[in-house]
Amino acid sequence: MKSCDYKLSVLLVLAGVLAWVQGGPALAQPAQAAEAPAQQELDPQAFAQCVEQLTARALQEQIEPEVVASQMGAVQYVARVIELDRRQPEFTETFHNYLGQRVNDYRVQKGRTLLKQHYDLLLQLTHQYGIPPQYLVAFWGLETNFGSYLGKMNVLDSLTTLACDPRRSEFFTIELLEALRLVEAGVADHSTMLGSWAGAMGNMQFMPSAYRRFAVDADGDDKADLWNSLPDAFTSAAHFLNKLGWQRNLRWGREILLPTDFDYSLAGRDVRKPLTEWRLLGVRDVAGNRLPALDLKSSVLIPSGHAGPAFIVYENFDVIMGWNRSEFYALAVGHLADRINGGGELKVAPPDDERLTVETVQWVQQALNAAGYDAGPADGIFGTRTKRALRDLQKARGWVADGYLSDAALQRLQAVSKESPDRQIQNGESL
Ligand code: CA
Repeated sequence: MKSCDYKLSVLLVLAGVLAWVQGGPALAQPAQAAEAPAQQELDPQAFAQCVEQLTARALQEQIEPEVVASQMGAVQYVARVIELDRRQPEFTETFHNYLGQRVNDYRVQKGRTLLKQHYDLLLQLTHQYGIPPQYLVAFWGLETNFGSYLGKMNVLDSLTTLACDPRRSEFFTIELLEALRLVEAGVADHSTMLGSWAGAMGNMQFMPSAYRRFAVDADGDDKADLWNSLPDAFTSAAHFLNKLGWQRNLRWGREILLPTDFDYSLAGRDVRKPLTEWRLLGVRDVAGNRLPALDLKSSVLIPSGHAGPAFIVYENFDVIMGWNRSEFYALAVGHLADRINGGGELKVAPPDDERLTVETVQWVQQALNAAGYDAGPADGIFGTRTKRALRDLQKARGWVADGYLSDAALQRLQAVSKESPDRQIQNGESL
C-alpha cells in the first residue's frame, strides 16, 4: 500500500470512528446518604440558638449585616424538611422502573418539540460551551419536567432547618451561606427564593453554591434568574457542564452488545479500558458492528444484570454524574438525550424484576454467608461486598456471574439455601 493510500484509509477509518463516538449534536444536588438516623424534631429554643450561631457565622463570613439580619430574622423551622430527609426508600428501585418513569414517550415528544422551539439559543450554547442541545433539554426534562415543577419550598427555611440538624449540618450551613450571598446579589430573598426541600432551585435545580458559581445572566437584565428566564437557565446549565469537564463532540456513551462469554467482573465504572480493548473482548454496537479501535477510556455498565441492556460509557458520563451522583440518573439523561435527538428505544429492554426490599437483601446476605461466600453483615444494603459474594457463588455454580439479583438469581439462591449438606456431598458439589 502506498503511503498516501494508507493515510487516506487511516483518515477514512478515523472519520468513521469519530462519527461513532461523536454526539449528533460541582454537584447540582446533594448526594443522598445511605443511612439516616431517626427523626428528631428540634425544640424552638434549640432552633433559636442555632439560628443565632448561623447568624454569627454569616457575619463572620462578611455577608452584609442588613441582609443577614433581615433574612435570618425571617427563617422558620420546617419539620417536614427533616421528615423528607429521613424518608427511607422501602425498595431498591430497579433500572426498569427508574428509566420507565423518566424516559417515556411523553417526555421524548415534549423534549423534541421544546428543542425545536429553543433551537437557536441551544445551538448558540453548543458553539459556546460544547454541550449539544438534546442534553440540555434532557436535563431540563429530568430535573423539573421541562420547568413545570420548580419546587415550592422556602429555600432559606429549608437550608436553615437542615443546617441545624446534625446529620449534614456543615454541608447545609455552607449552602445557607451561599443562599445569603444570592440575596446579597439581589437574586431573590426569603419570600421569593423557592425550590426543593433540600434547596435546589429553578428550571435546572441548582443548589445555592452551584447557582453562585455557575449561573449566568444571558438575557441581559443583570440578574441570573434560573426560575423565570430560560436563556439564563439553559446558559447556566451549559456553563456548569462545561466547567465539570464536558468533552466537546463526544457522546455520553451508548448501548452495546456483549459477547456470551463476557467476564462480568469487568462491568462497572471502576474498570476503565480503551475502546480498543473492549473491541478485542468482542464487545459490539447494537447493530452488531465491532467497536472502533480507539484509545478512548470507557467502562461497561449492566444496570439490570446480563439479561438487560449493556452500555459503554465515556468521560461525559462522569460529567453527568458530577451533576447528580447516580448511575441510573446519568443513563437516563444520556438515553433521553438520544431519544430527543431522534434515537429509538433501547435494543434490549430492561427486565421488569421485582424491586428488592431491605428484608430480601438481608436474607440474601445471610444465605450467601451460610453458603460460604462472604457478603458481610446482613445490613440490607446490596453493596460491593454482597455483589462480589453473589458473583463468586454464581461462578462456582457455572451460572452467568453478573452479581445481579434478578428474580431468577433469587430463585436459584433460594434453591441453594435449601440444599442439605448430605445432598451436596452426594452431588459432589462443594460450596
Ligand atoms: Ca437574566
